Amino acid sequence: MNSRPTRADSEAVRNRPTLADTEAMRHRRGESVLLYITDQCPVGCAHCSVDARADSDRVADWEVFHDVVAGIVALPGLRSVAVSGGEPFAEQRALPYAIGAFADAGLETIVFTSGYWARENGSAPGWVRRLLPRISTLFLSTDGFHQGGVSNHRFVGALRAAHRAGCRIVVQELDTGDGARVAEELLSEALGPRWADEAETNVITPLRYGRGAGVFALQSRHEVGTFSACTLLGSPTVRYDGVVIPCCNEGLITGHGPSALRARTRRPEGVAQALTGFRDDPLLKVVGRLGPGAAADLPGFEALREERFENVCGGCWKAYDIAGRPGPAADSVTALGVALREGG
Ligand code: SF4
Ligand code: SF4
Repeated sequence: MNSRPTRADSEAVRNRPTLADTEAMRHRRGESVLLYITDQCPVGCAHCSVDARADSDRVADWEVFHDVVAGIVALPGLRSVAVSGGEPFAEQRALPYAIGAFADAGLETIVFTSGYWARENGSAPGWVRRLLPRISTLFLSTDGFHQGGVSNHRFVGALRAAHRAGCRIVVQELDTGDGARVAEELLSEALGPRWADEAETNVITPLRYGRGAGVFALQSRHEVGTFSACTLLGSPTVRYDGVVIPCCNEGLITGHGPSALRARTRRPEGVAQALTGFRDDPLLKVVGRLGPGAAADLPGFEALREERFENVCGGCWKAYDIAGRPGPAADSVTALGVALREGG
């Protein structure tokens, strides 16, 4: 599925993962993983949920990074790798290396970018032109916050470059009223009136992580029992520096929240070991099967009912905070682990 289509090869583009395909793979455990390839981004949006900056950390230990890529490629049953950051295209060496390894292994490659790398005339630097045909689906994000760093002209240039290279395109806009209309106008300008043959739009909810916490209004808070089971455990994250996270929560990825939800690995096999560890984690089984509210029924977790949370992740983090203290909650998790091992 990763053969290189020419611009006229629109049938091949149609065979590349659509938005629905990528979402389905994210929700089926074992089919997809997210490679968080850099903390760095030159665009500087005020709402950035991962607080990416031009001088943030980036790939520095190449041995670890090569192990991370090899560890992902070796995962059994994997079908796709999504690559995000920060800005993946800020990694001129790491991104082609990773995409090449994933595409050579027959994996679908899905990359999230602002399109800052494009020129306003629709051309792109040589290394980007060589890379784009190996990317199955390119998610291009735009909204009022991006426009200080990526003008509409530049964004349209990125859309044209991705289209010429044969990428399936998804334009992401924030759900701030007219997001869908803006995305459709940009696609129409870049690709013409039949843009929907090879591209689509996705309107996303603003996130209150990173700099977004100071920009978007606080949501109402709810009792932990009102949250459903977590649906994001099918979308684990591997950071460029070898840290593995069981889900794609931006706060966890950028070093916040309970340390029990981050595993540091070194060797390629460490990636699979970390993911197996999270899959067997008794508390994560509760969060993933029933929701964090079910943990409140365990001895020692009574305090979970005393707080209110904005979302399921708030309840999950609190459950891990409680479980991390020595005492009855930690004992409950140990007993739960034994019961689950015996009962499945
Ligand atoms: S939101 Fe995206 S483009 Fe903007 S600073 Fe963050 S990573 Fe960069
Ligand atoms: S509920 Fe927990 S495991 Fe699920 S996405 Fe949120 S932080 Fe991750």
